[in-house]
Amino acid sequence: MKKYPIIKNISKFLFFLPTLYFLNTKEAHAPNTEYNLNADTRKIVVIDPGHGMGNRVEGWMDWGKTYLEYKEAEIVLEKAKKIKNMLDSTKYKVILTRKDNTTPCPIESRPELANKIKADIFLSLHLNDFKNWKSISGSEIYWRYEKDKDLAKLAAKNINEIANIPNRYVSWGEYLMLKEVSCPAALVEIGYFLNEQDINKILKTNGVEKAIVKTIEDYLK
Ligand SMILES: [Zn+2]
Repeated sequence: MKKYPIIKNISKFLFFLPTLYFLNTKEAHAPNTEYNLNADTRKIVVIDPGHGMGNRVEGWMDWGKTYLEYKEAEIVLEKAKKIKNMLDSTKYKVILTRKDNTTPCPIESRPELANKIKADIFLSLHLNDFKNWKSISGSEIYWRYEKDKDLAKLAAKNINEIANIPNRYVSWGEYLMLKEVSCPAALVEIGYFLNEQDINKILKTNGVEKAIVKTIEDYLK
């Protein structure tokens, strides 16, 4: 072996490769768990601000829908932070799947996080659009399993009554962020991004935050 140090090094490297792969895979899917949940007996709410860094492709920022200066990923992150502020001082512990637009947050890590911390409720927040049609308005709420249905209906009702955004429908959807989440979970398309009435209600009032807070309180009480 002394004569062939390269071969020796290569074999060492090959031996190390699976370990590298394992570490890398583990890292990529590791949910954000910087919370001491053992000491906290409150019910756990996971809010997922849709899209974000590395959502679908590693190293690539997914802004979701964009229009003029508006970016879906930014707007839903702001909404999620406000919801957290409104609920955190109460009997609920709110965990966000992502806190900024720079930390990687792969889509699979979101349901993983909810399950890992034994969430009581999971809501993924989004904004909608359809082929640049500005006339379409309203929320759309998606559920994936029967256990999610009541939560989805409640979100639709509250967004209608409190945020004044009518519901287009509550429907089944095979969304990845809802896949195998143990607790009740729903994907909330709050309203239509290009619709002036919807976007004004979303951006210029806090009706959406109040509606989501009410949904969580109603569901978990
Ligand atoms: Zn979205």
